Amino acid sequence: MQAKKRLYIGLLSVSLIMVIGIAALVWYLFANREALVNQVVLLSLALIAAVIFAILGIGILGIVIMIIRSKTVPSLENLTQWANEMLFPLALLTGKFFGIEKEKILKSYISVNNYLVGNKKLALRTQDIMILLPHCLQNSECKFKITVDVNNCKNCGKCKISDLRELAERYRVKLRVATGGTLARKWIRENHPKAVIAIACERDLSSGIQDTGELPVLGVLNCRPNGPCVNTDVDVAEIEKALLTISKGGF
Ligand code: SF4
Repeated sequence: MQAKKRLYIGLLSVSLIMVIGIAALVWYLFANREALVNQVVLLSLALIAAVIFAILGIGILGIVIMIIRSKTVPSLENLTQWANEMLFPLALLTGKFFGIEKEKILKSYISVNNYLVGNKKLALRTQDIMILLPHCLQNSECKFKITVDVNNCKNCGKCKISDLRELAERYRVKLRVATGGTLARKWIRENHPKAVIAIACERDLSSGIQDTGELPVLGVLNCRPNGPCVNTDVDVAEIEKALLTISKGGF
């Protein structure tokens, strides 16, 4: 496993261990105070917590197994997704506690997500795939409204939109530009893609991946040579690679 993926999986595991530790401490503090807490209620809560922890543990194990086997395990997909959603905020907090940069953790999370999506060995028709671009890829001086329709771009070549239009036309993929989560969700609702290739920064990509639930999303990070949110850039070859991953049955 690459170091990138290990970081996020490690944080998920540490988060779970910490939560179990806190639950055990609470149990220890209250178990001997019969007058304060009804023992039957306490035992029931402990049992429920134990089941939840076991499911989360299996979810994390599922992620590791899928990465090691380079193949998805359909019966574990829901559990891994659930563990991921539940423990993601805790993993960020744990990382902060250990002084790990948030960006690094998000990168690792995206890398794990991409690997799991790739392992699903999808072989979708390219027409069922949507490439979702952030508005900041457009040259800031360009006056054409590409968020309304990306075909309003005049292919002047001052930003990557023209190259991406060419790529989308060549593979007959849907191409949309979003200014934020609301517009991105609207494009997904209207176009019903079976998978999305999303381009954005670490923060927007990870919240987008979390937002879309079961819809497979492959994330490609943009580059920010001019700082965040203005005249950003992206490696078109990386997007093409992502496209081939979900249209040709995996990595
Ligand atoms: S390539 Fe298209 S979007 Fe980019 S600056 Fe030129 S016209 Fe505008």
